[in-house]
Amino acid sequence: MRLFVKKYKLLLWLACLLVCGFLATSMVSYLSSRDAIRHGISDQALPLTGDNIYSEIQKDLLRPIFISSLMANDTFVRDWVLGGERDTDQIVRYLKAIKDKYGMITSFLVSDQTLRYYYAGGMLKDVRENEPRDTWYFRVRNMKAPYEINVDPDMANSDAMTVFVNYRLQDEHGKFIGATGVGLTLDTIGGLIESYQTRFQRRIFFVDRTGAIVLAGKSMQHQLGSIHKQAGRASIAGQILNNRTEPTQLEYRRDASNVLVNSRFIPELNWYLIVEQDESSEVAQIQKVFFVNLAISAVITLLVLGIALFAVNRYQRRLERMAATDSLTGLLNRQAFEFVNQQSMLSAERSGRSLSAILFDLDHFKQINDSHGHLAGDAVLQALALIMRRTVRESDVLCRWGGEEFLVLLPDCPLAQAIGVAEKLRVAIAEHDFPIPDGAYRITASLGVAQCLPQESSESFFARADQALYRAKDAGRNRVEVSG
Ligand code: GH3
Ligand code: MG
Ligand code: MG
Repeated sequence: MRLFVKKYKLLLWLACLLVCGFLATSMVSYLSSRDAIRHGISDQALPLTGDNIYSEIQKDLLRPIFISSLMANDTFVRDWVLGGERDTDQIVRYLKAIKDKYGMITSFLVSDQTLRYYYAGGMLKDVRENEPRDTWYFRVRNMKAPYEINVDPDMANSDAMTVFVNYRLQDEHGKFIGATGVGLTLDTIGGLIESYQTRFQRRIFFVDRTGAIVLAGKSMQHQLGSIHKQAGRASIAGQILNNRTEPTQLEYRRDASNVLVNSRFIPELNWYLIVEQDESSEVAQIQKVFFVNLAISAVITLLVLGIALFAVNRYQRRLERMAATDSLTGLLNRQAFEFVNQQSMLSAERSGRSLSAILFDLDHFKQINDSHGHLAGDAVLQALALIMRRTVRESDVLCRWGGEEFLVLLPDCPLAQAIGVAEKLRVAIAEHDFPIPDGAYRITASLGVAQCLPQESSESFFARADQALYRAKDAGRNRVEVSG
């Protein structure tokens, strides 16, 4: 592992750099997009929905308030009450006409004299001070404003949630003589809630001052109850119920998702309007982009690393070759040969096969340098390397021993066979026309052959080949001499 780390340090750094760079840019773009989406929802989408619903509510309430005001100022109603509420039919007909004409769900009149509650179907009941359902009447009796809007179940209408406009009825001296008005359903608001929920996946609902959800779309029917007891919402319930009419932006976490909230108090209904949206559905899209980015980055990283690895390996192989070979002839240099030789000697010893060597030196090489220059000498050495390659087996090891001295190591080759190879080499050199700038040059070599003895050291083995080479020189050159 450490070797791997050492060899591929550059690649590891490159990988780290690319991964960090890609991760950083992807994260930055993901975070800024998420921020933009979040602000879009919080600052625009949710407040706009709230505004729309609020203005729809105000529009819906305008007409019933006007109708209730007409009723409260109608001399017939006033006179009928002051006249002792004599003919119930008359007022019932009146209330029915108002209800039908203006398409209201209910219309009513309560007389302060008798505390009777009249509606379009007749006389419903008497209102009583200690009856919780009737507290509204006693509130209206004491209030300063000409009317109030109150949401209550309507007893005259199977207890359906109804918005009542409770208008004070007064005689000509301003004395309170009863309450009158109309009631309307929350159908329009309900429809609006549904359309926003399906179009924008927003949750829209109303809570009363205690935090109880009083009106919500179909998708939230299973979530009714108090927001104080709901996971996530409970954490912001206190901030929602703050009495402020201006919209408040809030957020809470539920099921690993961030929910953005816009809340405002609707004084007409005495309710809070809450618009919610999960951030996750919007963020999922940019999360997808984030992962696609990462995938592309990973592919690019792998490609770059692949190319770099290829280049490093190629460069390394080239360096290794350059370090192991002689640059002029392309044959093994002495250091690389030492390594190969050790392997060859070990394997010869193990297998019991013979190992021979031919060491040779060109004859009178100095002359060629002297008369034709160094470059001509170099060209001869290069040509010689080619002759050597051609003459020996693939498995034989060729080494530039030094200067114009060469060694051929012949694994699995007994002495007699090695002598044959040396002779072949001698003849090939001697018969070759070495090209030099002004013609061809003939040159010979003196060769010494030795076979490695059992347990013999490499120094001794090559020293014997060297001695044989010198004997060849002494014996007149261009010949092969054998050691022992
Ligand atoms: P001998 O027959 O006794 O070997 O005579 P020689 O002239 O070949 O003598 P020796 O082997 O001592 O001389 C080797 C010469 O080879 C000396 C050196 O200048 C030359 N030489 C060694 N390496 C190179 C080389 O890479 N290129 C060239 N051009 N000449 C080289
Ligand atoms: Mg020589
Ligand atoms: Mg020499």
